[in-house]
Amino acid sequence: MAQLAMVMNLDKCIGCHTCSVTCKQAWTNRGGTEYVWFNNVETRPGQGYPRQYQDQEKWKGGWVRDRKGRLTLKSGSRIKRLLNIFANPVLPTVSDYYDPWSYDYDNLLSAPAMDTTPVAKPKSLITGEDTKVTWGANWDDDLGSGPEQVGRDPLLAKLSEQVKLEFEQTFMFYLPRICEHCLNPSCAASCPSGAIYKRSEDGIVLVDQDKCRGWRQCITSCPYKKIYFNHKTGKAEKCTFCYPRVEVGIPTVCSETCVGRLRYIGVMLYDADAVLAAASVENDEDLYEAQLKVFLNPHDPRVIAAAERAGISPDWITAAQDSPVYQLIVDYKIALPLHPEYRTMPMVWYVPPLSPVVDTLTRTGHDGEDASNLFGAIDALRIPVEYLAELFTAGEVAPVRAVLNRLAGMRSFMRSVNLGQEPDLSIPGSVG
Ligand code: SF4
Ligand code: SF4
Repeated sequence: MAQLAMVMNLDKCIGCHTCSVTCKQAWTNRGGTEYVWFNNVETRPGQGYPRQYQDQEKWKGGWVRDRKGRLTLKSGSRIKRLLNIFANPVLPTVSDYYDPWSYDYDNLLSAPAMDTTPVAKPKSLITGEDTKVTWGANWDDDLGSGPEQVGRDPLLAKLSEQVKLEFEQTFMFYLPRICEHCLNPSCAASCPSGAIYKRSEDGIVLVDQDKCRGWRQCITSCPYKKIYFNHKTGKAEKCTFCYPRVEVGIPTVCSETCVGRLRYIGVMLYDADAVLAAASVENDEDLYEAQLKVFLNPHDPRVIAAAERAGISPDWITAAQDSPVYQLIVDYKIALPLHPEYRTMPMVWYVPPLSPVVDTLTRTGHDGEDASNLFGAIDALRIPVEYLAELFTAGEVAPVRAVLNRLAGMRSFMRSVNLGQEPDLSIPGSVG
């Protein structure tokens, strides 16, 4: 099977939110979707959007293994979910997303003469009334801090024993998120109406608006909380991977407008029969490696022949062979999946942030370029490896460490090349 996928290089995200705004203008600039951001950019550490969405004990998203090792939705069995149709599913409230607001700009012009400057008071976009703004999709951007964040970000709280966070070690980075267009989508599996489907030609996950009956089981079951309820139409909506654009050969809006040029789109060929087995492996820590094995080498003649037999077009096979996503994930092994432990087999992967590397900066003068230092002094990384592992490898540190070492080696290699110097090929990651 063929799947469109995305890799985002987090070292290059500057948190400008252009992607979110252009996506909103294109897709959710309508009544009923005021609070909806198909693309959002979170500050890490932070609570995310909706608030604390990673807490699956609370929200019941994704898949878990039952006692026989089979996958079952965390939101419950089919019978329980059918009964749930008549009860309220577990859902974030609008205050977990945020009460969307604008400002009363008229007040700036129409306020009577007074001693102080008039202000544009916040107004709820839904009720039109004055509102008190206490939480927003990127609230942590303004409130980000060091030790104080420990209680706010569950991933950080989990690590607080291992990682002693002092103000001097305060760190942050941005995490842009869209729907993962999962290989094993729990949203689709949970829908009582069968309204959510995965396109066979490109793997894009869509909601059939005619079939959707607004049961909202999908919102519970998506562990990334990337499917939303339109309170005007009473239907679920989600990121479409901009399929009308992709079908005519232009990239998604978020990719095209990304200021950091950090979003890579490409085609991956994968073994559909292997997906469930990979998603069912016993240990969460093995899920990254298990998902890697699902991807097929598009240069292998046997894979090409099988793809042709399956009806995949020659253009798509060529696209898979030229895919930057395949190179970043499989060839270079510098991209990782977000929360593989949800077992949905996500297809938006991330190059984790490397910089800044505190120690190497002082020793070499070049931030994060001496990979040999990283091997001995991985703790010199300002962003704790353990924190990245909680995001990308279900807590398994070794693959994250390997990626960061490779990135540091590549950075060192490219600086030497650009300066016309002989690269130091003894640095792991500089070759291969
Ligand atoms: Fe479905 Fe997207 Fe959520 Fe995956 S991330 S479960 S495809 S809505
Ligand atoms: Fe980051 Fe690009 Fe979005 Fe700006 S447009 S926030 S650089 S992903």
